[in-house]
Amino acid sequence: MSNHLYDALLAPHAASERPCLHLIDGSTRTYSDMIELAACLASVLAAHGAEVGDRVVVQVDKSPEALALVFACLHAGLVLVPLNTAYTPAEVSYFVGDAMPAVLVSDPSRSNALVEIANGVGADLLTLGGDGSGSLMTEAAAAGDDHPVAEREAGDLAAILYTSGTTGRSKGAMLSHENLLSNTRSLAEVWRFSERDVLLHALPIFHTHGLFVAVNVTLLSGGSMIFLPGFDADMVIRELPRATAIMGVPTFYTRLLARAEFDEELAGHMRLFVSGSAPLLAETHREFFDRTGHHILERYGMTETCMIASNPYKGERRPGTVGFALPGVELRIGEPATGKPVATGEIGVVELTGPNVFGGYWQMPEKTAEEFRDDGFFITGDLGQIDADGYLHIVGRGKDLIISGGFNVYPKEVETAIDDMDGIVESAVIGVPHPDFGEAVVAVVVPEPGAEIGEASIVATLGDSLARFKQPKRVLFTDELPRNTMGKVQKNILRDEHAGILEARQ
Ligand code: AMP
Repeated sequence: MSNHLYDALLAPHAASERPCLHLIDGSTRTYSDMIELAACLASVLAAHGAEVGDRVVVQVDKSPEALALVFACLHAGLVLVPLNTAYTPAEVSYFVGDAMPAVLVSDPSRSNALVEIANGVGADLLTLGGDGSGSLMTEAAAAGDDHPVAEREAGDLAAILYTSGTTGRSKGAMLSHENLLSNTRSLAEVWRFSERDVLLHALPIFHTHGLFVAVNVTLLSGGSMIFLPGFDADMVIRELPRATAIMGVPTFYTRLLARAEFDEELAGHMRLFVSGSAPLLAETHREFFDRTGHHILERYGMTETCMIASNPYKGERRPGTVGFALPGVELRIGEPATGKPVATGEIGVVELTGPNVFGGYWQMPEKTAEEFRDDGFFITGDLGQIDADGYLHIVGRGKDLIISGGFNVYPKEVETAIDDMDGIVESAVIGVPHPDFGEAVVAVVVPEPGAEIGEASIVATLGDSLARFKQPKRVLFTDELPRNTMGKVQKNILRDEHAGILEARQ
């Protein structure tokens, strides 16, 4: 019996009494604790009708039990579909309808809002709170730990991770066992992880960064994680002395730099600081070095491809760049229209192939076909250039994606919600620089003449339908949006015009 990813990440540690997680209350969870709990959870999922290949949608707070549930899906050969905890029940309803899971696991406080949504697709609803409360753990306590590890091959699906869609429809990126394992192996090697590493884990576990990069690299190398419920600068500063490495979004680093006690004495012993998921300002990189003596290692990736490129472990970590293609990844910069490689130093769209590239979007073969070239290269939609020394620079996002605090916001989804309101002609949603979140959402709205509509009422209405991170920090009014001759709204003009609006408020 073999299970491609389980055999590499979990099976070697099944009897290990070494710590897997260090928790903030001072307790630890050993590898064998976690793997045994996962086996019990696998029995519970099976008892609720989940069979090999079925989806399990999970929207729960980060906790050791939530991580054991991730392991349980792997154990039982189920396809994990983790969701951002900020999604509203209306948003969860879309994902459940699309993924058609056998089981939905939610926070106990959400069960009333979600039970009909689950039942509507024939799924069972189980609950799990951040403190381990809820039906999942109650049932696990009575379940056996002898559920067989499912047979899974390299190409079998391990997870579906939803990305936001430019048209407002999210797409489920299908990731196989080998997509995840090949990427984990590359990262563990390139970043030199070993069983001596203690990773400070402050990222969410519903996104590829915290879930697959941070967790899988640690498991493969047999290290351990200080498992924080979320990012909190006080907690990070307190826990840093026992960590060897941290993986974060740029916001982590700007927040740490805002604290006077974050200095060389506190950070000097660390082996590695990794940044990704959004651009790290070259200025932050330099300030971090001046303060701590460490060069942050910036890497680049996306949900569909896992990690693509990384600055070197040894050698120059060049500020404002994301380094070189990872082992096994073939990268090129193509002309956006044709994919034809551009000359060195020219800007084009970043494209790649490799064992890390996903198999396509769940039940969207046409959308999938649009994102691949005929020769199999995946079109990331990011604009980049490779400098004379081979370092990749990400210069912009062709898709107008806004990344706020490490989370993706597609303007179209917010615009549609605003345009649906009474008294609005149209809107344009842009990202503007924000000192804490990197970027923040700002809406520029054209009201109908004489309409009684204000910033507060728009923000309040969006509060019911959109996750908080997607809600505009400011709503501005104008008589007309700037457009080019093709009738397209020129968002670059709006971005330039409003670039300082949130910085000035801090
Ligand atoms: P996600 O699918 O949520 O991981 O978002 C992927 C997108 O984040 C990429 O397509 C890039 O636009 C952006 N991204 C990730 N890492 C970086 C980075 N180091 N620098 C610039 N953009 C990045």
